Amino acid sequence: SKELSLQETGAMLLAAEKIVLCTHVSPDGDTLGSTLGLARFLLAQGKQVTVFCDDVINKSFSFIPGIELCERPVEGSKLQTDLLVVIDASSFDRIGLVSEVVEAKILLNIDHHISNERFAEYLYLDAKAAAVGEVMCDLFMAMQWPFDKEIATCFYTAISTDCGSFRYANTTPKTMRNAAKLLEYGVQPNEISDALDVRSRDTVEMLAKVLPSLTFAYEGKIAYLTITNDLYDKDVQTDSFVSYPRYIEGVDVAIMFKAVEPAVTRVSMRSKSVDVSAVAVAFGGGGHLRAAGCTIYAPVEEARTQLLEALGKLV
Ligand code: 5GP
Ligand code: MN
Ligand code: MN
Repeated sequence: SKELSLQETGAMLLAAEKIVLCTHVSPDGDTLGSTLGLARFLLAQGKQVTVFCDDVINKSFSFIPGIELCERPVEGSKLQTDLLVVIDASSFDRIGLVSEVVEAKILLNIDHHISNERFAEYLYLDAKAAAVGEVMCDLFMAMQWPFDKEIATCFYTAISTDCGSFRYANTTPKTMRNAAKLLEYGVQPNEISDALDVRSRDTVEMLAKVLPSLTFAYEGKIAYLTITNDLYDKDVQTDSFVSYPRYIEGVDVAIMFKAVEPAVTRVSMRSKSVDVSAVAVAFGGGGHLRAAGCTIYAPVEEARTQLLEALGKLV
């Protein structure tokens, strides 16, 4: 891919009339906030904008301004567009059906993953940015595009979710300066954080069932939780569960294994020092040094054995 500057990225967005913006699957605050903040600006410019998200969206994101713009692409349909912008996804398989449905003249990827696969013709990549929300702030400032409270809420949500509310190692002075800039537009950090923390009863009841699966390996340096296929419920949000093994004394790598199908296992990893992104990439996934994921096409016990073996060499 050709790597663009912020100016070139901005110019490419302004040159297009018909634009499709898309998030990654298992959408998080960064992909949704970054996409919807940009969508709001482009709509105000009179662009024809479609926002695709090929997955269910966690209810806790329903406060994000413009969330109602998100559509799921319909299998077998086709949508022609000038420009497809893939936001916060490091590989083409992370956008689900969007890759089949959209026929774009130009493909642009805006991302911050160190594992970016350079699948798009044009790429804006900043692996130092804590979130694509930060890239969006940089872009808006470079282009002198206006912020409003809604756009600021979108980008603040994006930044604060990806850096664990400014607690993770990816938080830089610039992350905080970008967030501070957004607060000037009337964003209330407590309101956003409260909205994001809301969870359903089902989630807490599921947590009670999943916590007994807590297991340690490699002298307690690895801790993991498992959601077996019997327990798995696609409608119950379990993204936050990996934080339970993560903060146990002495644990370097925390993992959640989720049997989404009898022979398909989703893996989420968090680490203090091990490069889990490299391990995820080895299994066809990706992510960041300290937060990464992959899908292993094997039953959960087998997936667990394979992954623990790979990680055992690193801890
Ligand atoms: P999570 O564990 O929260 O699902 O993901 C952690 C990080 O790894 C996120 O930045 C996410 O984008 C990335 N990630 C998770 N799963 C995959 C995957 O299957 N493929 C790729 N390329 N990245 C992933
Ligand atoms: Mn993301
Ligand atoms: Mn991100």
